[in-house]
Amino acid sequence: MSRRDLLAYCNDLGWRDPPEFNPHPERETPPKAEPAPSTSPEIGSLADLKSSIGDCQLCPLCEKRKNVVFGEGAETAPLMFVGEGPGAEEDRTGRPFVGQAGQLLDAMVFALGFERNQVYIANVVKCRPPGNRDPQEVEMSTCSPFLDRQIQLIKPHIIVALGRIAAHRLTGSTKPMRALRSHWMTYQGTPLLATYHPAYLLRSPKEKRTAWEDMKLVLAKLTE
Ligand code: SF4
Repeated sequence: MSRRDLLAYCNDLGWRDPPEFNPHPERETPPKAEPAPSTSPEIGSLADLKSSIGDCQLCPLCEKRKNVVFGEGAETAPLMFVGEGPGAEEDRTGRPFVGQAGQLLDAMVFALGFERNQVYIANVVKCRPPGNRDPQEVEMSTCSPFLDRQIQLIKPHIIVALGRIAAHRLTGSTKPMRALRSHWMTYQGTPLLATYHPAYLLRSPKEKRTAWEDMKLVLAKLTE
């Protein structure tokens, strides 16, 4: 999607407040969160981590996946988005959040003043759950060290959990999304905000404005 298309899309969604909106704001760099304790000190880069995952077969999700979807974005991204797991298009391409939900996430990112390659996008599980079912507890707990290490290496200023599964996994809460969203929490010392998953927003367009309210909280924290 071109920048012009993204801008038009954001306008259509109401994801634009004229006094605040600026695709490339001059902002002071917020202080970095304290790095979390390392669980794999020997893995010192995202490239090393990706290599270490390789053709991972640690959980049953390896059986039907086409590609491990490691995640992508800036290695020092201030913002990290975490979803639950790859879907069919992600499994086919090996990239997170592509397809329609990915375009909506791109619009969120753009409305916050970033390009997609300036943030980091990953999932709780790196392989597609068959039929897009929810990842099971054993699958998430087996795969979580990879996400934890990604977070430790990237050291984002803010994590945005996309959807109920990611929010529950990262916060330990089982509250519904409507109770979790709009409240700042932390994950390993990093500020975390939960909001609706882009795929849910496609099914429930009236919540897109609600999601933008959440993104405005992210914007405010980034510019504190
Ligand atoms: S989901 Fe994670 S733990 Fe399971 S096979 Fe894929 S990379 Fe390995």
